[in-house]
Amino acid sequence: MRGWIIPPPKVPVKTMAEHAIERQRKVRWLEAQGLLESARIRAALLKVPREEFVPREYRDYAYEEVPLPLPGLRATISCPHSYPLFYEPLGLDRGQRFLEIGTGSGYGAAVAREVVGDAGLVVSVEIDPLTHEFAKRNLEHAGYRDVILVLGDGGLGYPAAAPYDRICVTAACADIPPPLIEQLGPGGRAIAPLLEDERQNLTLVTKGPDGLRRKTLCEVLYVALRGAYGD
Ligand code: SAH
Repeated sequence: MRGWIIPPPKVPVKTMAEHAIERQRKVRWLEAQGLLESARIRAALLKVPREEFVPREYRDYAYEEVPLPLPGLRATISCPHSYPLFYEPLGLDRGQRFLEIGTGSGYGAAVAREVVGDAGLVVSVEIDPLTHEFAKRNLEHAGYRDVILVLGDGGLGYPAAAPYDRICVTAACADIPPPLIEQLGPGGRAIAPLLEDERQNLTLVTKGPDGLRRKTLCEVLYVALRGAYGD
């Protein structure tokens, strides 16, 4: 079975300035790889201090291309390139209503909040209580006070703030859970790692007037979705 190799936990020694330099370098690398084009996503990635969303013992690895473990049963902060990988095809932009399934560290929600801005909305649902608490602390500490954080099964979405313009599922599932498709507005887009045999394919779904359009983007490796639509 394939998997990620997690670096060993250690006492952090890097300064804020060093993290800032790594953050800028990472953004330049993402652009060079052709993964990052949107000016708003670029500005968000330059602004959000990813190291503040990583547990202390993994903080010095914040800008390395590995997912890092988080408090909770099976939670990780995804590797840095996954955020533009999801948000670019979603066309995440100013003023949108955004729903994330799998809050994890809260980093993806913070980046999304920077992209949608004051006129938009970010709702993020996490099923694991320990992970939810961790994300809540991180977002508060980083000054993100208007992100709606929900403890619950994200497969059911969050009808109270529907409809959404964009939905991002950050855990692997057999198909996009039907409640999420229902809560997507007309012309809305959803993205998720979908399980096909032993593989996970990042898939973009668009809700058009004639039904759903699907596009397979690339192979990815995410933790499995739990709950009513999980394993
Ligand atoms: N977006 C996160 C990474 C998420 S990792 C970040 O930026 O850090 C996937 C997360 O999905 C884990 O925290 C896991 O606990 C959560 N998860 C799994 N199944 C879920 C479900 N049904 N509802 C909500 N969260 C779920």
